[in-house]
Amino acid sequence: MSQSSNKKDLKRKILSGNRVSSEEAVNLFSWDIIELGEAGDARRTMASAVNEVGFIIDRIINYTNICEAACDFCAYHARANLIDPYELSDNEILEKVQELLSIGGTQVMLQGGLHPDYTLNKYVDMVTNIKSRFPQIYLHSFSPSELVHISRKSSVPLGEVISALKDAGLDSVPGASDLLVDEIRSKVSPRKINRDTWADAIFALHRHGMKSSATMTYGMGETNENRIEHLNFVREIQDKTGIFRAFIPWSFSPTNTGLRDIEPATGLDYLKIVAISRIFLDNITFIQAGWLTEGLKLAQIALTMGANDMGGVLMEEKVVKATGIETRSGVEEFIDIIKNAGKTPYLRDSEYKKIRTY
Ligand code: SF4
Repeated sequence: MSQSSNKKDLKRKILSGNRVSSEEAVNLFSWDIIELGEAGDARRTMASAVNEVGFIIDRIINYTNICEAACDFCAYHARANLIDPYELSDNEILEKVQELLSIGGTQVMLQGGLHPDYTLNKYVDMVTNIKSRFPQIYLHSFSPSELVHISRKSSVPLGEVISALKDAGLDSVPGASDLLVDEIRSKVSPRKINRDTWADAIFALHRHGMKSSATMTYGMGETNENRIEHLNFVREIQDKTGIFRAFIPWSFSPTNTGLRDIEPATGLDYLKIVAISRIFLDNITFIQAGWLTEGLKLAQIALTMGANDMGGVLMEEKVVKATGIETRSGVEEFIDIIKNAGKTPYLRDSEYKKIRTY
């Protein structure tokens, strides 16, 4: 069969809503960006027919940058020597939550390095401390690698770690998936958990009735096949669990990291990945436009190619900032960006339920 009839067949398959194979998804990287974007947007309307884009007001609280993993792709950990080692006190964390509440924020993401001395009690205290003072705050916090770290440091089984944190008030856990390809993980983050251990944590969360999200960090020297391998791993887990509320692709910024020789991913790579993720991940409703690493204008274009959520108007973030990227945003800016993309903006909660429309 000729290449053009193959392409026609694939286009028909996408527009009729059928599942796309890994091999077909790799082929999509060679499509013209406009055609690919239209296909991504067509699949977006199948995932959610409404022409609306949600966002949340949240705050990342990076509680410590002391991390024994010291990944090469991370500029935030203390051993990268860009940020002095620090640990936030309970009161400093509470002040940050109070600041978020004062601007109408609803969600806190506690995220930190894998501190060699922190055990389960420290994390339970952190959650209890916030929830006893601010029960209305939704804690979408930690990550599979932090959960595994707690389990290992405390010699407590992973399931018990999750139970204890859930009982203390943890509501859901971001997937923080990086790239789920061990060949790449072993190069850029050899001391962090491997792909199967990441999956073990996700399945354990599912068994405890908790929701998560999946992300993808690309631009770390991987191939298009590696990217689709990642998406396929996510899709298979979602088929089994339905645990992921959203999928968020991020480009990796090599500046300031131990991988600065890597050619950075382009804006075109980003838009292709958004569209292909939307087409391939037929079992995830929300694909986020990752404005933090891509900038608001590229995120706006992503809203026309398959993305249907803007994520959080983050009050504070140190991990991406440490790589040299400084993007800021506010509610008014989000509303303008979304409206100018021809969509209706709405403020949502952590479960993606609408709070108000603008
Ligand atoms: S990515 Fe996470 S685990 Fe790796 S060094 Fe940075 S803070 Fe530590």
